[in-house]
Amino acid sequence: MQIDYRDHYVSTRGREQNITASQAIIAGLAKDGGLYVPSFIRNCHFDIQSLMSKTYSELAQTLFEAFLDDFSPEQIKVCVHGAYQTGLFDDAKCPVKVQKAKDRYFLELYHGPTCAFKDMALTILPHFMTKAVDIQNVNREIIILTATSGDTGKAALSGFCDVPGIDIIVYYPKDGVSAVQEKQMLTQGGKNTCVVGVRGNFDDTQNGVKKIFSDQALNAKLEDQGFLLSSANSINIGRLLPQVVYYYYSYCELVRNDAIQCGDPVNFVVPTGNFGDILAGYYAALTGLPVHRLICASNANRVLTDFFETGEYNRNRDFYKTMSPSMDILISSNLERLLYDVSKDTDQVSDWMATLQEDGHYTIPEAIKAKTRKIFWGGCADETQTAQTIADMFKKHHYLIDPHTAVASHVYDEYLKNTADETTTVVLSTASPYKFANHVYRSIFGEIPEGLNDFDVLSALSAATDTAVPKPLADLANRPNRHNQVCSVNEMDRSLQDFLTRIKA
Ligand SMILES: *Cc1c(COP(=O)(O)O)cnc(C)c1O
Repeated sequence: MQIDYRDHYVSTRGREQNITASQAIIAGLAKDGGLYVPSFIRNCHFDIQSLMSKTYSELAQTLFEAFLDDFSPEQIKVCVHGAYQTGLFDDAKCPVKVQKAKDRYFLELYHGPTCAFKDMALTILPHFMTKAVDIQNVNREIIILTATSGDTGKAALSGFCDVPGIDIIVYYPKDGVSAVQEKQMLTQGGKNTCVVGVRGNFDDTQNGVKKIFSDQALNAKLEDQGFLLSSANSINIGRLLPQVVYYYYSYCELVRNDAIQCGDPVNFVVPTGNFGDILAGYYAALTGLPVHRLICASNANRVLTDFFETGEYNRNRDFYKTMSPSMDILISSNLERLLYDVSKDTDQVSDWMATLQEDGHYTIPEAIKAKTRKIFWGGCADETQTAQTIADMFKKHHYLIDPHTAVASHVYDEYLKNTADETTTVVLSTASPYKFANHVYRSIFGEIPEGLNDFDVLSALSAATDTAVPKPLADLANRPNRHNQVCSVNEMDRSLQDFLTRIKA
């Protein structure tokens, strides 16, 4: 493998260059408003055959040594061990599972402490952050500021809980997450955690967080108080890199199980919201993984489906609340990283993002669109199709999937109808069906029996499907709430300051 470290990480908007991994992880977002990208990625190549005998942790070690340019192999080892080998995941040997159902493989990414794929990255990000703080000799307290559409919040709270030198505040759309997701967050322990419901949808919440990051006066004031803001959202490169690992791992699993020969191309279908997970798949493809298609699956909020079809990104449209809330997103932040890679033009990227901010839409030229369509294919599922897919997968194939995964599985059906492509395909399974037990139960069995509350449904689903409620969700209903704050979008900075005052006290 050859790596060209000359340019390290750069901002997609071109005003920052030569940033190292530790600097990018601490900063989260670039100062020019852009996202950090590894400028050396096209010089980075992994030989699949040489990865075949590696465990998940060994594979992670190899990839991180290439990407984390100023971390030592020993530091990386400590991070990987802390995340994947200390019993946080169901199986201490491997955090993910590959299962075949129907004619496709499901890559189950939800066997971590909060039952969603966000755990894959958020169990290791706190370790990256702690090491990055050492490398950069930061002597301020890090404040992790996070907007969540449901799953990131809990996974980040769980990952950063009681980590010395770091505090975390999570904002979520008050009526935009599932009952289980909300309860998971509100019951979070730890002296360094804070959870705030925001009156608005996810995009409002994410914009509120971005505003706090770019508020110079507020940031100066925080610096005086000894604080430094950072992010656990997928805009942080430290979130993205751990997601590259499981694309490689699932490929190696398919080879080991004789589903494919080493070197054969595969497709990945990815239930997409902020475009982080699927972008990690793109990075895997750029660095040598034989990927034929990355199939981008959206729910009724089909802004990305339209983008790949027409080349116009347009957020001026109705916003739908669906049963796959982690994908109820009209501004997919990580798309900016793809635009950077296909255009290689930071002025263009800056223009598009400015136009998006001002007018709510932008259009990429035909040549750029053609480049994206070489590998990406976009599709979507409405609520009826999602429910039908959950029911079919269980009734015909005895496999229980959550609504996000069902969106992806439906989009793969559409893809097959449209293309007749016979490439072996992996569907990324991003959440435990028990996180969305209400919808899953209703999709398969019809109305929920009277008198059952949101948490009783977990046991009902377990009994009806003969599957187990995951441990982290089993006694959730009985845990006391520890957070109860609600605010408007304009009050988000105020609640941050209140939290910091409490921490200082
Ligand atoms: C976050 C999330 C997604 C979307 O992932 P992105 O990286 O935001 O595209 C899909 N499914 C579930 C369950 C999630 O939590």
